[in-house]
Amino acid sequence: MKRFAKPLLASAAFYAAATLSPVHAEIDVINLKPMIEKSVEADYPKLDALYKDIHAHPEVAFQEVKTAAKLAAEMRALGFEVTEKVGKTGLVAIYKNGDGPTIMVRTELDALPMEEKTGLAYASHDKTVWNGQDTFVAHSCGHDIHMASWVGTAKTLLGLKDQWHGTLMFIAQPAEETVSGAKAMLADGLFTRFKKPDFGFALHDGAFAYGNLTYRVGTGSSNSDSLEITFHGHGGHGAAPQRTVDPVMMAARFIVDVQSVISREKDPTEFGVVSIGAIHGGSAENIIPDDVLLRGTIRTFKPEVRAKMLAGIERTAKAVAAMSDAPAPDIRITEGAKAVINDPGVVETAAKALKAAFGDKFRPSPPLTPSEDFSEFVNAGVPSMFFNIGVYEPERVAAARNGTGPELPSNHSPLFAPVPKPTIATGIEAMTLAVLSAFDQHARGK
Ligand SMILES: [Zn+2]
Ligand SMILES: [Zn+2]
Repeated sequence: MKRFAKPLLASAAFYAAATLSPVHAEIDVINLKPMIEKSVEADYPKLDALYKDIHAHPEVAFQEVKTAAKLAAEMRALGFEVTEKVGKTGLVAIYKNGDGPTIMVRTELDALPMEEKTGLAYASHDKTVWNGQDTFVAHSCGHDIHMASWVGTAKTLLGLKDQWHGTLMFIAQPAEETVSGAKAMLADGLFTRFKKPDFGFALHDGAFAYGNLTYRVGTGSSNSDSLEITFHGHGGHGAAPQRTVDPVMMAARFIVDVQSVISREKDPTEFGVVSIGAIHGGSAENIIPDDVLLRGTIRTFKPEVRAKMLAGIERTAKAVAAMSDAPAPDIRITEGAKAVINDPGVVETAAKALKAAFGDKFRPSPPLTPSEDFSEFVNAGVPSMFFNIGVYEPERVAAARNGTGPELPSNHSPLFAPVPKPTIATGIEAMTLAVLSAFDQHARGK
């Protein structure tokens, strides 16, 4: 790759000597963009092969042994120092390039326990055992796109290493889909055995047009809590309900009444959802069972909304049992992922570079209602930015939007099928510029 003799990033020495203040110099996107594009173009055949191999052989949460080994080999070949088995199947790849901040770039490793139905030449036909059951495995959330972009970004940044100083900390996280991999890596000393990074970045693909990116300042994804309630009654004959305490009745009443917590207690302008996804109870039409178990999910953005909803849900469950003169229900609320909060400073710096590179294709979006355990790293004290990239042909997206074409499969659909090259290229370009902007910001002492 052609290199510019003079670094395109602001030099700390220059700005220390400069009398003008504050200096708002930013990275030279106009010159960097074609260099990054050239690098991606040269690297792409190998990245394509890596992507399709990972796509065809996906592994579910904490089983990502082969996937991690593939990434470890790629990173070692680039000159990164790689530590494997951090948080069971995770890996940490470090590259030092002089004095400067440590910048973390995270990819996930895991796929989903489901069957792929895309019919692609490189579709997965692999199976595994998950929760004691045989299942197909598929990269239907696009984490394979993230991995190819992650390796490509590392390669591109090394090709530009006269443009930045500091340490790259590339981490590959297991078990994002079960929101447990980030915790596992932290518990295994991610920020103690290795240096805690100064900044962090991660991206996720989604069902919109490739070449497009969305970002958020502040809250980017939801808090997720899982809910399990067992209503205890007193079973008996369906023809003689007066001799029973009916837990099916309690469950039914709870499912309806709990929605009033959303509509009457929560501020209607704030996001909050409770969905009951599973009901287990009973065996025959004429037997009132002893117990009914409900499982659900609770999603919120703000901690105060979360607290209000949890209290309301608990109160409703207890009241429903009391109404039936039944014993108190067992209520178990398990905390899942916390909302990802993007750091305004990190976002502002990266956004300037990304806006310069992508123009109107880089735009803010409202927070997303799914959850993401990248928040674990943020909450451990790493100012970060999490952004999204599109995966489909712009014409197909436009047709789906104006109703002239079919709806496009979203993440977790068996038909989710990103167009690899432009998606991965955008991922690399955006992530490279985001990382360079953070190095530059630090070099300018901001
Ligand atoms: Zn997913
Ligand atoms: Zn995902």
